[in-house]
Amino acid sequence: MSNEADLELPRSIRRGPKITIACECGEKRYLSYGERWACEKCGRTWNTRRIPLEEYAELRRTQLRYRRVPVVIAAVSLVCVVAFIVIGKALGGLLIVAFAATSWSMFGHPFYKRRYREQLAKVPTWKIEPE
Ligand SMILES: [Zn+2]
Repeated sequence: MSNEADLELPRSIRRGPKITIACECGEKRYLSYGERWACEKCGRTWNTRRIPLEEYAELRRTQLRYRRVPVVIAAVSLVCVVAFIVIGKALGGLLIVAFAATSWSMFGHPFYKRRYREQLAKVPTWKIEPE
């Protein structure tokens, strides 16, 4: 595997969801995009770069979109607390955030998790040929 080739891939792509490679002999590996794997059992070499980059990038975008939501919620909560502290009502701010956090974990989170899993379950299957 050449390291130079790895550098061509955007960092975001290299850190994307793992790709399951199922070898024809039944072996399985979880690889990052751009990795190659030589099957120990039968010697076939699989190169994840045979997957169209654009399709993989789309999958990665879906993953990032879903990861962003909790970050945004945390940031908004923080801003609320700071705003309330600034206007001298820290307790009110904390109560609102506690309330928001509770509703999120009770209602938002399970729903969100399910959506996320559904999205990732739709992960396309690519048929690639061994090298
Ligand atoms: Zn194999």
